[in-house]
Amino acid sequence: MFRHTKAVLEKLRHVRLKCQQLPRRQRSTAAKEKALHYNAGQQIHGFTVKEVVAVPDLFLTAVKLTHDKTGAQYLHAARDDPNNLFSVQFRTTPMDSTGVPHILEHTVLCGSKKYPCRDPFFKMLNRSLSTFMNAFTASDYTMYPFSTQNEKDFQNLLSVYLDAVFFPCLREQDFWQEGWRLENENPTDASSPLVFKGVVFNEMKGVFSDNESVYGQHLQNKLYPDHTYSVVSGGEPLAIPDLTWEQLKQFHATHYHPSNARFFTYGDLPLEQHLKQIDMEALSKFDRIDPNTQVPSQPHWTSPRHDHVTCSPDPMAPDQSRQNTLCVSYMLGDITDTFEAFTLSLLSSLMTSGPNAPFYKALIEPKIGTDFSSVVGYDGSTKEASFSIGLQGMAEADSEKVKNIIHQTISDIIAKGFEDERIEALLHKLEIQMKHQSTNFGLSLASYIASLWNHDGDPVELLQINNSVTKFRQALKENPRFLQDKVQHYFKENTHRLTLSMSPDDSYLDNQARAEKDKLQEKISALSDGDKKEIYEKGLQLLDAQSKTQDASCLPALKVSDIAPTIPITPVLMSSAEGVPVQFCEQPTNGLVYFRAMCSLNTLPEDLKLYVPLFCSVVTKMGCGDLDYRQQAQQMEMRTGGMSVSPQVISDCSSLDMFEQGVLLSSSCLDRNVPHMFQLWQDIFNSPHFDDEERLRVLVMMSAQELSNGISYSGHMYAVTRASRHLTPAGDLHESFDGMEQVRFMKRIAEMSDLTQVIRMLPRIKKHILNPVNMRCAINATPQQVSESAAHVESFMKDVAAKRKHFKAVRPNIIQRPLDVLSDSGPSRKLVNDPDFHPCYMKTFFQLPFPVNFVSESVRTVPYNHEHYASLCVLARMMTAKFLHGEIREKGGAYGGGAKMGGGVFSFYSYRDPNSVQTLSAFRRGVEWAKLGQFSQQDIDEAKLSIFSSVDSPVAPSSKGLSVFLSGLTDEMKQGHRERLFAVTHENILDAAERYLCAGHKTCGVAILGPENDAIKKDPSWVVK
Ligand SMILES: [Zn+2]
Repeated sequence: MFRHTKAVLEKLRHVRLKCQQLPRRQRSTAAKEKALHYNAGQQIHGFTVKEVVAVPDLFLTAVKLTHDKTGAQYLHAARDDPNNLFSVQFRTTPMDSTGVPHILEHTVLCGSKKYPCRDPFFKMLNRSLSTFMNAFTASDYTMYPFSTQNEKDFQNLLSVYLDAVFFPCLREQDFWQEGWRLENENPTDASSPLVFKGVVFNEMKGVFSDNESVYGQHLQNKLYPDHTYSVVSGGEPLAIPDLTWEQLKQFHATHYHPSNARFFTYGDLPLEQHLKQIDMEALSKFDRIDPNTQVPSQPHWTSPRHDHVTCSPDPMAPDQSRQNTLCVSYMLGDITDTFEAFTLSLLSSLMTSGPNAPFYKALIEPKIGTDFSSVVGYDGSTKEASFSIGLQGMAEADSEKVKNIIHQTISDIIAKGFEDERIEALLHKLEIQMKHQSTNFGLSLASYIASLWNHDGDPVELLQINNSVTKFRQALKENPRFLQDKVQHYFKENTHRLTLSMSPDDSYLDNQARAEKDKLQEKISALSDGDKKEIYEKGLQLLDAQSKTQDASCLPALKVSDIAPTIPITPVLMSSAEGVPVQFCEQPTNGLVYFRAMCSLNTLPEDLKLYVPLFCSVVTKMGCGDLDYRQQAQQMEMRTGGMSVSPQVISDCSSLDMFEQGVLLSSSCLDRNVPHMFQLWQDIFNSPHFDDEERLRVLVMMSAQELSNGISYSGHMYAVTRASRHLTPAGDLHESFDGMEQVRFMKRIAEMSDLTQVIRMLPRIKKHILNPVNMRCAINATPQQVSESAAHVESFMKDVAAKRKHFKAVRPNIIQRPLDVLSDSGPSRKLVNDPDFHPCYMKTFFQLPFPVNFVSESVRTVPYNHEHYASLCVLARMMTAKFLHGEIREKGGAYGGGAKMGGGVFSFYSYRDPNSVQTLSAFRRGVEWAKLGQFSQQDIDEAKLSIFSSVDSPVAPSSKGLSVFLSGLTDEMKQGHRERLFAVTHENILDAAERYLCAGHKTCGVAILGPENDAIKKDPSWVVK
């Protein structure tokens, strides 16, 4: 996987310092206290302890060590969290765009000395209970993290990871498969034309089919033009074929060395065991080298620069005539200066985030563009940080205007500064982020410290966030112009700034295709007949290797018997407030209260349905009660951890023709702010503001732009949703809310010159949705807070109940399901039943300007509680691992592909796929493969392990009890499913494949998103959109 600039940014914008206090396990009585007993200077298994620091804000103890022989650096965060994490990162600083670090990241995972079987990484996914396994290539480091809750699994995975990165086979064949190769289009036909193939080659074509990625990449390359940031670490598609196998091996020898490595472990497992294993299996076999991989400082420009790039036109863009992007990017200071980086990142939020931020007021609200540029705000992923500000979706003619506004806004900020209230709101947000408990805290920490540590900054200092907060408050007290002076220095007076514009070019895709053709021709014309023969033979060899049944017995594995036979029960308590059911779940939430409410859509007229997602995205952002939208945003930031509303389509566990439709309200706050949080909801229920057309237009444009940008990223989800549309009534509504239909609908709304018609819809929708008659609530809080929260829910309900309205349900068949499993007479969920629903066959093609496809076929099967459901889950997982992965990724060159079960629908899919209809036949061959039944008990067990690793993935205290609240999925039903999963046999799987997936028996839908496609155009069975 390539973590390109945009993803890094997104990651940083969303970095949450989440804390988690899970029930302690027997084996680790207070890991963080134990770790305090280490002493600086102490020697453990070839390492020397350098520093031991308690970080009470994050409930952990940090232990910093160095490996004596190699100089490898090590950080351990001891914390009473059983979801243990390991990560090793190498500083990888390429000086060309061949994608060498990225291709290396892929190839080291293709087999190693101790584990020589092909692709041990993917195989371990099925032999482990890992909660996370992946690898990332960033601009200047490559990271390999995994996490698991099982001690033996940790040791197994650690062994595989260490061997992969330090002793990989790096076979030539792996390089061809993962990197690039010339091969006959049809490898078994020597006369078919030679083409480029390779996983990374296609992955990067996919990445750069996204205009936001294109822009982010150019911006980084041009802002830091003098060293490694001037190249594409993931690989420029047309530069990738310049990489040789020898260069790849050389890069490994110089970069993947312990002297260039940083190890991070996290959780409640003992540190000694990790150190011992890492030293024994890897580090002791190396001597120290000088890796010489430092990134030098970027020399500061003496005058600002300007540049321009082009991209492909976006037919989904809300306004075709406004597709330009322009932003100004400033180089800031070195990220290893922790406090300066902290200050600049806060400053960036003050300047850009939320409707009270000066840049939001100056750039977004005048509607010059659809949204901020894809790169915006503070970015600390490079050695010197940057700050970017600009717009996308703007007209070229407005360029000068935008530049002037940016410079003027900076001057205004220097003159006026920020309101104290906003600074407090931001610090409050930080407090919530530190208290909120997530399930992947270890991984968040690893990503949070990666960049700074990579440039030899002190990761422990970075973890001591409260020190920075204290220092920040002090600085503000001593100098009220502290922030303004920073803006003066880093923005007004900074000559190292780049103004980069991007505009669509109609011939962009043709030019790219031509350039690829030329590159291919250049490679081919250099080939002798002998070379061509060799290519053909190598192609056959690769195909042969890919088709061979692989022996993975060298790999360590957990057994099905290592899986816990039962799940822990989550107790919840049903109560009511003013007749509205309320579920309470007592959890160690660390001083936060989580409130949710599910509101039914059963009475909402059909003509308003498509507007529901829009309603959800604006209802908490347009003002309410006495607050205008700015004051409302301010209150939310000051008093809550966020308030949001989202549409829900929930398939019934027992019938495919039944579903619940609603919207979910979610919010959280610190204990002390519960009354404020309910006051805000009360105002939203009683007097939301909907009539500000200007405000609505801003929100509409931003969501339309976001939807349009998201397709190239989650195209497979759109394909699956579309393919499932005609299979179940829930699938149909799901497409309206989350599918291509919604994308197109929002585009139409964004194009309207007059939104009064939309404005009239919103209060009509509100009347039906924010109505206590069809509502239920849930509270997750600490036992002490539960009763206090109950009183607040009660008075909230009392207030809004006055507005109670009774409407008739729109659909005739409404089925009630009890909310409390123990009482049939109590409150219930109201489900829509559509017994006359006729699933139908439909093939849909969406032509989009991507060089790759997203392909899906979905088949209607059985609901969750059905006896065959578990067999279908195992079948999907096994078919993915044992057949589809090989066909679609390894042979087909797609970035990914597989099968999955969800909502009673079995779906095949491919991701960033160079093939389209050919992949549909791979799906069919998958079914044939399953019917042959040539899979072993080991294959079945592996599929089960892989399913359980997701079934048993940790649930945060804030989300406990939610599955029963939302879907009526009780612990008993989960346990039943669990037992059926354990019991699935070879025969069950064959039967499921035969019964549900074979042609003739099945009802299926097909959808492809991709570039112009002649085969589909000529075939009248396709509906082309
Ligand atoms: Zn990749």
